[in-house]
Amino acid sequence: MAASMASQAASRGLRTTTSKHILLNKVKCTWLSPRRWLNLQEYQSKKLMQESGVAVQRFYVADTASEALEAAKRLNAKEIVLKAQILAGGRGKGVFDSGLKGGVHLTKDPAVVGELANQMLGFNLTTKQTPKDGVKVKTVMVAEALDITRETYFAILMDRACNGPVMVGSPQGGMDIEEVADKTPELIFKEVIDIFEGVRDDQALRMAANLEFKGPLQRQAADQIKRLYDLFMKVDATQVEVNPLGETPQGQVVCFDAKINFDDNAEFRQKSVFAMDDMSESDPTEMEAAKWDLKYIGLDGNIACFVNGAGLAMATCDIIDLHGGKPANFLDLGGGVQERQVYEAFKLLTADPKVEAILVNIFGGIVNCAIIANGITKACRELELKVPLVVRLEGTNVDEAKRILRESGLPITAAENLEDAAKKAVAAIRK
Ligand code: ADP
Ligand code: MG
Repeated sequence: MAASMASQAASRGLRTTTSKHILLNKVKCTWLSPRRWLNLQEYQSKKLMQESGVAVQRFYVADTASEALEAAKRLNAKEIVLKAQILAGGRGKGVFDSGLKGGVHLTKDPAVVGELANQMLGFNLTTKQTPKDGVKVKTVMVAEALDITRETYFAILMDRACNGPVMVGSPQGGMDIEEVADKTPELIFKEVIDIFEGVRDDQALRMAANLEFKGPLQRQAADQIKRLYDLFMKVDATQVEVNPLGETPQGQVVCFDAKINFDDNAEFRQKSVFAMDDMSESDPTEMEAAKWDLKYIGLDGNIACFVNGAGLAMATCDIIDLHGGKPANFLDLGGGVQERQVYEAFKLLTADPKVEAILVNIFGGIVNCAIIANGITKACRELELKVPLVVRLEGTNVDEAKRILRESGLPITAAENLEDAAKKAVAAIRK
C-alpha cells in the first residue's frame, strides 16, 4: 500500500507520460528523468517537424467551431481529419463529456467538421493518459486526411542506460502500441545512436526494414528517420514520438501524429521553442510554485508535506500512509533555498482547503536548516497559521534551527525523525 502511494504521486507528477516507459522496459532501458519537461501540442510539434523537412499533412488550427469550419473549407481536401489538441495521447479512443466519442474524426464534409468541433471545444476529453475527469479542449487541428495502408511506431528517446539517444520502432504502430509492447515484445526494435556520429545510413535503413517498409518506401522512411533525428538534436528533445508513422497508398511515408518533449535544461538556447509553451494545461498551483522554483504536486488527502527532494517526498508520502494518514499535496523545496521561498511554499500549502496539518521534513545537505526555520517562523506569524505544524529537520545547522523554532514561542511540534513526524501529524488530525 505504501508503495502505491508513492507511485500515485509519481504518476500525478508525470501525467503526460506516453508509451515510452513500456516500450523501453521491453528493451531493457531506463528512462532519464530531468527536472520537468516542456510539452507541446501536436500542432506545435508538427510546425517544428515541417521546418525540419519531416513529412506531415497540411493543417490549420482553430479555437472555435466556426474557425474549424472555415479551415476545413480552406483546406479543400478530399477528406479532412479533425483532432482535439491536448497534451495526452490516446485521443483516438478518448471520450468527451459532451458525449462525443473519439478525439480524432475523419470526414469528407467540411460542414461536419463544424458540428464535431462544437462537441469538442470547451469539453473535457478523457483518454487513458489523462486524469479521470479528462482535459479541457481549447484548440482543434483541422488537417488533410490521407488514406493509411499501414501504421508503424517510431520514437527517438534520450536514454540513460544507453548514455544517449535510442531509436525505438515497431511495424505494429497505431493506437495500441502499449499492447504490442506487452504481448509481442519481439516486434519492438531498438537502435542505440552514437551521439557523436548521429544516425548512420545502415541504422536508418535497418530500422526502416524492421518497420517493414518495402522497396522505395524503405529509403523514404530512412530519410524521415534521419530528419527526425536532426530535429531531435536541433531542439534539445528528450523524446520525439511518431505514432503512427504511416504509409499511404500513393507511396508516401507520413508522420500522422507527433509528440515532442524537451530538456528544460536547454531552455537558455531554445528560447523560441519554450516560448510556444502556453501553460494552458498546467495546474495553477503548480505554476505559481514554479515561479518560485518550487515543485508542487496536489494529492487528495489532508496532510500537507513540505520536503526537499523527490525521494524524500515519496518517503514522506509513504510513511504518512503507513501510519493511517493521507498526504494532501507535497511541495519540494529543492536545494539552495532562500527564506522567501519557504514563505511562498507555506502560502501555497495552506491555500489548499483540504489541509488539516502540515508536516515539514527537511534534510539539510545543501539546504541550511536555519534558513528553513526562519522561513517557517515568519510564515507562521504572517499567515496566521491555523493548522497543526509538525517539523522534522536534520542536517546542516540543525541545532541553530531547532533553537529558532523553540524560542519562537509558536505552537510547533518538533519531531525526532520521519516516523515520529508522521505519527505526530496523523495524531494531530485525529484530535
Ligand atoms: P492519438 O495517438 O492521440 O490517438 P493520433 O494522431 O495518433 O492520435 O490519431 C489516432 C488515429 O487516427 C491514428 O492512429 C490514425 O489511424 C488516424 N489518423 C490520424 N491522423 C490522420 C490523418 N491525417 N489521416 C488519416 N488518418 C489519421
Ligand atoms: Mg497517436
